[in-house]
Amino acid sequence: MTPKLLSLHHVTATVAEARPDVAFYTGVLGLRRVKKTVNFDNHGVYHFYYGDEVGTPSTLMTTFPYAGQGVPVGAKGAGQVVETAFSVPSGAVRFWERRLAEADIAIDAREERFGRPLLRFHDPSGLRIEVVEAPDDGRGPWLGGTIPGEVAIRGVHSVTMLVRSAPPTLDFASDVLGMAVGPSERARTRLVVGEEAPGHFLDVVESTDAPPGVNGLGTVHHVALAVEDDEAQAAFRARLVEAGVEVTPVRDRDYFRSIYFREPGGVLYEIATRGPGFLVDESVEVLGEALRLPQGAEAKRTEIAAALPTLDPSPSRPESST
Ligand code: ZN
Repeated sequence: MTPKLLSLHHVTATVAEARPDVAFYTGVLGLRRVKKTVNFDNHGVYHFYYGDEVGTPSTLMTTFPYAGQGVPVGAKGAGQVVETAFSVPSGAVRFWERRLAEADIAIDAREERFGRPLLRFHDPSGLRIEVVEAPDDGRGPWLGGTIPGEVAIRGVHSVTMLVRSAPPTLDFASDVLGMAVGPSERARTRLVVGEEAPGHFLDVVESTDAPPGVNGLGTVHHVALAVEDDEAQAAFRARLVEAGVEVTPVRDRDYFRSIYFREPGGVLYEIATRGPGFLVDESVEVLGEALRLPQGAEAKRTEIAAALPTLDPSPSRPESST
């Protein structure tokens, strides 16, 4: 069986403060927080997942707010995802210009990418975020937020990976991972994961003299690609091992299962299963509201919750009530 990658799954970033992060991704961008949990390796750090109503793969942005944990500010550079673009409908960029202005967020660039209007700005931790118009996005918006459906974000559109030499990255993507090499524009070449649609694009930008990226606050840690199930993931794992790529064992992330490896340009890739998904431990009505803990951490809920930064100013919904 030739295993298939379906789409992007999620983008994960190391960010600074928790509260501004939530305010930005839910309040300004209008995504739904679909899970509030903690870092599996450090229970003093939140792990937030933002996406559509149920956290469908390809709509997901996830963050680890590491402020106060001794993690330095990172540097964007080669071997990293340096921009994350979200998809909005045709004509919506004008709405987003106004919305960002109202939120006092400076627009760093207005440009066209592959013929589509795009705005670039920063999240509170310094991540480069974009909205790009995509008329052919079949994904539905999250309608429980503050943004009208006709202009709301549909999900992640694409990420931009910066590498010093594009050919090894493109060859690996096509030969080992089965991606299609799409159009090019200046130093940018689009890789297509599965069908040619928003939520399926990895843009590779070559810059021969780019300084290396350094992990830390305000940088993307990895980009995850979706597979249907464990069987497809195992097939990819076998293929990577055969190609001489160092790849982790399968890790259970509660909401999906993951393997991790670096592509030749240095970008950390993850291949994640679609399921079991975010409804596995709470219902769609209250998704993302209560603190969910990894398997085995429940016995320490009181201590864990007490050590986490406060998110909601209202004391009427204490973290430990559920
Ligand atoms: Zn991940």
